[in-house]
Amino acid sequence: MLVNIDGKLLPKEKAMISVFDHGLLYGDGVFEGIRAYNGKVFRLTQHLDRLYDSAKAILLQPPLTKSAMRAEILRTLAANGLKDAYIRPLFTRGQGDLGLSPTLCGKPTYIIITDLIRLYPDATYRDGLALITVPTRRNVSEALSPKIKSLNYLNNILAKIEAGQRGALEAILLTQDGYVAECTADNLFILRKGRLLTPPTWQGALEGVTREAVLELASQARLVAAEEPITRYDVYTAQEAFMTGTAAEIVPVISLDGRAIGSGLPGPVTKKLMAGFRALTRAGGDAISASRRRVRP
Ligand code: PMP
Repeated sequence: MLVNIDGKLLPKEKAMISVFDHGLLYGDGVFEGIRAYNGKVFRLTQHLDRLYDSAKAILLQPPLTKSAMRAEILRTLAANGLKDAYIRPLFTRGQGDLGLSPTLCGKPTYIIITDLIRLYPDATYRDGLALITVPTRRNVSEALSPKIKSLNYLNNILAKIEAGQRGALEAILLTQDGYVAECTADNLFILRKGRLLTPPTWQGALEGVTREAVLELASQARLVAAEEPITRYDVYTAQEAFMTGTAAEIVPVISLDGRAIGSGLPGPVTKKLMAGFRALTRAGGDAISASRRRVRP
């Protein structure tokens, strides 16, 4: 597997960066998670927009333009002969002396890792997932906006650890004032009283690309959908629930904190949206070209 570091395609074992990179020392950088299906990258524009918005929010000047980054992603996939893949582009602040200030760094680095995708087992999509609420709260927007996909994911990692400690695969993080924010790396939807609801992102969720696609599918299916604050009570008493994310796609959720949601089985609306989303991922996207030539920024 070849990894792209600043335009150089290096074998995985040789793909290394300095221990003085501020991405490692301070989590100073941003990243994305993207999928390719059958030779086409799903919603690459939206992912690139989010990557560059994250960079802007942390005042990191990307070392290449958005269109050059797009070309580099496609080139890396082609070089690895991948048609179905998980793609991890990232920007780090770059190599620098010890000390927090980015002025100590030379220039930002970009990295593109492409890999095979590891999904939840088939049974999870068929039978659904049990969630719990964990003690760690979602980052407060005023301290570090959860809309930034930064290289510091400790908030989410702690929640994931806490879920594991209690035997759960996934968890819900609440906002400071006790509303449902999202899962550790996925957005959450519920169907309640016939309406499809997901928390508004200003409350502390990432603006998920899959979330957006599901809202589009809901509108095409003439489902009433809304971005509305949700409490745990709303989830407990929902008819259906599911998580959305690039890696996970749509995963049915069948319980929260030991309370079965609806019938305790994946519901019909969830299944319909899963089928719709699958069709959407197969429908189009940026084609992975055979070109291995480097495009200069
Ligand atoms: N929330 C968080 C915290 C995430 O890291 C992700 C995955 N990138 C998501 C939600 C889902 O977003 P997307 O559908 O764009 O993958």
